[in-house]
Amino acid sequence: MSKFKQFWKEQYEKSEALTWKQMLEVRKIIVDGLKLGISDTAIMDELSNRFKKLQDRSRLETVFYTESHRYRTKELKRQAKREGVVKFKIDIRGDTCPLCRKFTNNGKKIFTKEELVVDGRSVPPIHPRCLCVIIPVKD
Ligand SMILES: [Zn+2]
Repeated sequence: MSKFKQFWKEQYEKSEALTWKQMLEVRKIIVDGLKLGISDTAIMDELSNRFKKLQDRSRLETVFYTESHRYRTKELKRQAKREGVVKFKIDIRGDTCPLCRKFTNNGKKIFTKEELVVDGRSVPPIHPRCLCVIIPVKD
């Protein structure tokens, strides 16, 4: 397992009631729901029903925010591709984003589309609840 993946795994498992396996299931429900155009509220309700035993609802919310953010980043990339954009910057959002600052060299780094996929997963989000967004860079 790569360092990056290990980090994610730890973030998700850290003092939380959601196992990695459940996390994968949650992620699938979110992505499938978004693809079908189901509302955020309906997806959260579905998650709450499916994981009734989970005491920690904020946990599900964290995964929801993070994974829906990833889905939207992917959509932005798809749109950019159609417009012939091949380079991106990342707009760093939020005060407490040391990871994102490092990953983006304080928002200065220019990324290719390929560099915005880490371990087969689209970034940002770079960490749970990351708010950073991609900005197409036009030549
Ligand atoms: Zn971030």
